[in-house]
Amino acid sequence: EAKARGKNTFHFFSQDLNDAANERLLIENKLREAIREQQFLLYYQPKIDIRNNSITGYEALLRWLTPDNILIPPLRFISVAESTGLIVQIGEWIIWEGCRFLTRQHSRGHNVTLSINLSARQFNDDNLPEIIERILIRTGANPASITFEITESMLMGDTDAAINQLNQLKRLGVSLSIDDFGTGYSSLSYLKRFPVDELKIDRSFVKDIPDDRNDMNIVAAIIAMAQKMNLRVVAEGVETAEQVEFLRRNACYQVQGYYFSTPLAEQELGRLNYVINR
Ligand code: C2E
Ligand code: MG
Ligand code: MG
Ligand code: MG
Repeated sequence: EAKARGKNTFHFFSQDLNDAANERLLIENKLREAIREQQFLLYYQPKIDIRNNSITGYEALLRWLTPDNILIPPLRFISVAESTGLIVQIGEWIIWEGCRFLTRQHSRGHNVTLSINLSARQFNDDNLPEIIERILIRTGANPASITFEITESMLMGDTDAAINQLNQLKRLGVSLSIDDFGTGYSSLSYLKRFPVDELKIDRSFVKDIPDDRNDMNIVAAIIAMAQKMNLRVVAEGVETAEQVEFLRRNACYQVQGYYFSTPLAEQELGRLNYVINR
């Protein structure tokens, strides 16, 4: 027992560590080690055009592969990374890796897009536009194929600063998307002021379609609003054929979800065309 536990370097997920502060400290130390030892990787979830079931692009999603081969999803560690500021370093790596991925795809003739999530700390960093610009230059990635995803809460608070940052990013030629749309508190008058290109309908509104009338009305309303405001609209968390049909009827043609594919490692993406055109 003792020996087996000694090999398990991830005590911090165990039940007996109920001291939350302690647990965060342990995760923080493990995250520093993970950065040093390059234990992060990106998975890619396809974005599908449901008019022809083609892959138009991917969303990059962070994973942590521990030395004992445990794949840890971001919700287990991203808040610690955020509160300790480690997310800035990890986030920069995510942009490098995503851009290198995009360049590889394009060099193989796959004209796909890539969506990259930004954390609040990253978004609030004055140096972010410069950092991205340098990465774009060094990797040769096409900014027109890149979308940065932010959440509504990042746009609250200092609205002028947020608008300024969005404009700086737009100047690089990238697109901007509001992730988890509908779950925050942004008013429609705010929305109009933000130079964003895309709304991503949160999974919580999609998951109970077609059973929940309210959710169906909300999703239809978001789609209609996006069209009126000339914004692209993407539905996330699509898991069933009924949901695909509902979105098609309401003219939301860009979707992501397990119905088509979970996020995958780059080397697994080759099999997707076969899977999606079933
Ligand atoms: P998100 O950006 O809204 O990403 C969507 C999440 O929903 C992903 O979880 C994805 O795997 C999951 N998902 C996609 N389709 C389905 C579906 O059909 N059903 C269900 N049940 N889930 C689905 P994941 O990869 O665990 O990421 C969770 C969150 O962690 C992300 O939400 C995002 O907020 C954050 N995150 C992930 N990667 C990054 C990153 O590189 N940087 C930052 N700052 N945050 C990230
Ligand atoms: Mg996202
Ligand atoms: Mg989302
Ligand atoms: Mg979400």
